[in-house]
Amino acid sequence: MAYRVHSRALIDGTGRDPVDHGVLTITDERITDVGSASTGDGDAGGLDCSDLVVLPGLIDAHTHMGLVEGDTLGGMPAAMVAAHLFRNAELCLASGHTTAREVAGADGGLAQAIDAGLVPGPRLFPSGPMLSQTGGHGEFGPPFLDHHHHYTGLPGLSEPSVRCDGPDQVRVAARNAFRHGATQIKVCVSGGVVSLTDRLEDVQFTVPELRAAVEEAEARDTYVTAHAHNIDGILRGLEAGLACFEHGTFLTEEVAAKMAAAGAALVPTLAVIHLLATEHERYGLGEYVVPRVAGVEDAMSAAVVIAMEAGVRVGSGTDLLGPEQNRRGLELALRSRLHSPMDAIVSATRANAEVMRIADRVGTLETGKLADCIGVDFDPLAEPELFDDPDRVRLVIKDGEVVKDLDGRS
Ligand SMILES: [Zn+2]
Repeated sequence: MAYRVHSRALIDGTGRDPVDHGVLTITDERITDVGSASTGDGDAGGLDCSDLVVLPGLIDAHTHMGLVEGDTLGGMPAAMVAAHLFRNAELCLASGHTTAREVAGADGGLAQAIDAGLVPGPRLFPSGPMLSQTGGHGEFGPPFLDHHHHYTGLPGLSEPSVRCDGPDQVRVAARNAFRHGATQIKVCVSGGVVSLTDRLEDVQFTVPELRAAVEEAEARDTYVTAHAHNIDGILRGLEAGLACFEHGTFLTEEVAAKMAAAGAALVPTLAVIHLLATEHERYGLGEYVVPRVAGVEDAMSAAVVIAMEAGVRVGSGTDLLGPEQNRRGLELALRSRLHSPMDAIVSATRANAEVMRIADRVGTLETGKLADCIGVDFDPLAEPELFDDPDRVRLVIKDGEVVKDLDGRS
């Protein structure tokens, strides 16, 4: 089946200027033509979105839809974990994010449920549990309970992290993640903001450990991304061949140049930091995060600018945690303050698709791509802060199918 989407303006995600009255032709699940009203034939059967600006479906390259429990890890019934997880997937799609990379939390089980049409949600690229050394960022349990109390989640649903030490254990953990449906591997090379037993400045995993993860990923034609706040962690990751770094808080010009030379990408995550600074209780986290968050948002904002100026490919992630993850558009709002709103949009569309190695399928509105697009009732270049309100995303199309339609257009 083919139909046309008639827009007020069309932003295609490549960074090109908007096309007034752009028209998208969708045939089954693909885009088969991109033009403007003057090139279209004014068919009556099209979807009239002449009051909306149409953009590519947004991509969130750093999600934790499966991390719903906060400080109560292991204390929530599996049914509640599942219910919150499915709700987060639905909210993700409703916010206009038609593709997501889960970097700890939901495993391949959620991707299967979404692909089968049982749960509304984005096209999901799960990493499985993040690989963490003993005492590293992935340690969520109390420090004086023994090894066996390390919380390993609910395989087939949500797996926050796996503890592994030494190249052999890292290799097994990576293989298991792939066995559970991972499409790439996530490791921790630095301490974290919500960690219990490390500092942001700490460096985690040795080069041989990281190299084992890279070998396993490359054997499956994919890559490793790393939780990394500090530059020593990034340098160690570059040495081991990591393709992508999350957060990048304390990035310097020198290290950014090395990332650019290696073709490594950065996925900054401002939204969660902004929210933790103001609403940590809502996210089920203790007072301990407040001093850890102080200054991180400013430092990470500076890192974004440094990375872009150095020519690093910069994607976009939210890192939202907990239940009711309904602030995904905040990332675009915050990024738009650092550079142009168009750059923010490109980061969350084409650049993220490149980071995730799926640019042949999604990320831009171009002929041949999967038909993922959204319609918003505001000017994203003039008022990007309105991305933070999911109700302003009036229409969402995924794989050519209308999956959100607040105005009954379809
Ligand atoms: Zn994260």
